[in-house]
Amino acid sequence: MLDIRANLRAVQERVAAACARANRRSGDVLLIGVSKTVELERIRLAVEAGVPALGENRVQEAKEKVESLGRPVPWHLIGSLQTNKARDAARLFDWIQSVDRVDLAHELDRRAHQAERALRVLVQVNIGEEAQKGGVHPAELKRLLDAITGLKYLEVRGLMCIPPAADSAEASRPWFRRLRELRDAVGLEHCSMGMSGDFEVAIEEGATMVRVGTAIFGPRPPRPAVTEGGA
Ligand SMILES: *Cc1c(COP(=O)(O)O)cnc(C)c1O
Repeated sequence: MLDIRANLRAVQERVAAACARANRRSGDVLLIGVSKTVELERIRLAVEAGVPALGENRVQEAKEKVESLGRPVPWHLIGSLQTNKARDAARLFDWIQSVDRVDLAHELDRRAHQAERALRVLVQVNIGEEAQKGGVHPAELKRLLDAITGLKYLEVRGLMCIPPAADSAEASRPWFRRLRELRDAVGLEHCSMGMSGDFEVAIEEGATMVRVGTAIFGPRPPRPAVTEGGA
């Protein structure tokens, strides 16, 4: 039987140990439980066990979950977002980690205004400059930030990345370091980086948010690859 509580505690201990190695306080790193494909009952268990935030990568799937579970903790959108889903996203999520273009930011701002909410957002950076991947290229980051900083209903709080797939956690280290340097250069607070396989390395390199799915919830069933790429 999968023990969510024990898994969560084990991950929290690993977060704390990584923080200690890096001379950081564990309170400086937000652990986001990535609950995509996970059914309501297991998410409820994680909330009861004290998961501090939840992450989903598809708007439609999150809608059902937020409507059933409410907002016991903040919900983060971590998947790519189509502009035509900005309206639902602005109502459902507290944080949007996948802002990567001006038109999307404007639409989120407009929809957040309508929903009478303020949205905290991260700009997703395509740190490995991969062809298929969402995110703004590093060279375009400054221009994008200039264009979206000052939108009234969006608070731009940091950067997020999904580095190129790799066989080892160490292989991600240079990408994490690069995101942190970019974050420092633009003077923002958050770096969302690191997943089940590499969150400790990400913390050593300065992550302030880690997005951990399988290490908390167990393996995900494969899903049909029809709409690859998230929300
Ligand atoms: C699924 C997902 C995660 C979590 O992945 P795990 O390897 O299960 O921890 C983190 N970030 C994003 C953007 C994801 O889509």
